[in-house]
Amino acid sequence: MDKINQIIELLREEFPGLDPKPSKADPLDILIATMLSQNTTDKTSYRAFMNLKNNFKDWDAVMDAPLNKIRDSIRVCGLTNQKALSIKNMLKEMKKKYGRLSLNFLKKKSDDEIYEELLQYNGVGVKTISCVLAFSLGRDVFPVDTHVHRLTNRLGIAKAVTPVKTFEQVKDKIPEGKKFLLHTLLIRFGRKVCRSVNPLCGKCRLYDLCSFKEKEFYAMKEQAEPKENNFIILEHV
Ligand code: SF4
Repeated sequence: MDKINQIIELLREEFPGLDPKPSKADPLDILIATMLSQNTTDKTSYRAFMNLKNNFKDWDAVMDAPLNKIRDSIRVCGLTNQKALSIKNMLKEMKKKYGRLSLNFLKKKSDDEIYEELLQYNGVGVKTISCVLAFSLGRDVFPVDTHVHRLTNRLGIAKAVTPVKTFEQVKDKIPEGKKFLLHTLLIRFGRKVCRSVNPLCGKCRLYDLCSFKEKEFYAMKEQAEPKENNFIILEHV
């Protein structure tokens, strides 16, 4: 079995029962939600997205709104000027090009056609489009954010300095039908074990497969760290 399939199998053992199904949400909603998620947490970008949904009747109203009203709605998620401008300009360009603010026509296009179509908009990159493909069009793709980038490089299935380069190196190596599954497994694994800071290498199922130079250091560090004392237990005696 090749390395990527081995990783998938081991991660399925780590997260038994995880069976991600790409959702079929509105593609323009997902596009804007993903643009808002850059450089922030899921929680704050979701709040910013819901503010837009609640403060404006529809995406036409966002397009016509003064920039400061859009900025106020999304302030919670940071990079406010840049995100508000990108979203407003993108909506204006889409309206001009398609006549209406809907991306449902993408459903009939191939993945490559969709990348080509959406990459023309400022503020929309490969990761954002991969999210539209996976989370609204049900396509089997492999979105690479900073976390997936970190893990694939530590594991040695990519050797790249940016998420975009990682995506290009890895996308055709993953077996068909398993791309979105691997994305979801890696996101979970990155939160629980292969964390950005202080990865839990000593407890890692993928240790023998991993190419991370510092894995021994982190495994030793974990062993050397004092275990939690049991004062909390004593307090409850
Ligand atoms: S050994 Fe460490 S760096 Fe490698 S995958 Fe596991 S937790 Fe991540």
